[in-house]
Amino acid sequence: MNLPDGIRILERGWLSSNNILFTGRATGRQETALIDSGYATHAPQTLALVRQALQGRALDRLINTHLHSDHCGGNAALQRAYAPHTAIPAAEADAVRNWDEDALSFRAGGQQCERFGFDATIRPGDALTLADIEWRALAAPGHDPHALLFYCPSARILITGDALWRNGFGVIFPEIAGQAGFAETQATLETIAGLNVDLVIPGHGAPFTDVRAALDIAFSRIAWLAADPRRNAENAVKVLLKFLLLERKRLALAQLPSLLAGIPMFCVANRRYFQLSDKALADWIVTRLIRAGAAKIEDDTLCDVG
Ligand SMILES: [Zn+2]
Repeated sequence: MNLPDGIRILERGWLSSNNILFTGRATGRQETALIDSGYATHAPQTLALVRQALQGRALDRLINTHLHSDHCGGNAALQRAYAPHTAIPAAEADAVRNWDEDALSFRAGGQQCERFGFDATIRPGDALTLADIEWRALAAPGHDPHALLFYCPSARILITGDALWRNGFGVIFPEIAGQAGFAETQATLETIAGLNVDLVIPGHGAPFTDVRAALDIAFSRIAWLAADPRRNAENAVKVLLKFLLLERKRLALAQLPSLLAGIPMFCVANRRYFQLSDKALADWIVTRLIRAGAAKIEDDTLCDVG
């Protein structure tokens, strides 16, 4: 896989999204840019990785595919360090301007994100120059209603965030709260299938070239999820607990039910799809994570594995 000069992928673990660094040859402002900034607790590591990759240059621009905590959690630290011109999906502008935690997803998922600001917004159809080549923003609703793809037709590269991974895509969160997301996910995958893409840079995992195979997996997965929405809800609660575990490493089993009950997304999912006691839902998720090899129990404590 050959990346064009000036594009560097900082591949991260699951708590933080990948970071994609662009360095242009042109002088002056907007010479360097970063897409997505990882999770808040990883911000020092993100800053160190970006600083090393920049080799003494400043970071001129910061762009987010979407505003989930693992994609924009390093925004504030990067803004303190470099004051980059920051562009976010246009549909999130009011929520960020007012730091409206009911509209932003962090609190609903029990996650953290330091407050950041922005200078500009990006809408589907907008053109951008990154690493001296032209890119276009495309709408990618489904996992997140406001998410964007970044497509480079000349290099046939697509930056997908959580809209397409090598083996699936992110949880379709709008459906948990009773909003549409399955049809949007299908439409986003069809958009991707209609592009000329040789390389996908996903938000998580390594970049990949077998785009057709990834789309096949994604199309069959969306059909499977849409056939029974409870499957998406089961995936959502597992992912949210795994995320907490990635962040905190250890969670006391006795405190899990009350911890989960304090997270709005769990409560909504439980009310709509499970109707279990907090303890019964916690036990169910723990069993599934252990069975999947994503967690283990030591001394009455749930511990991260992976
Ligand atoms: Zn996401």
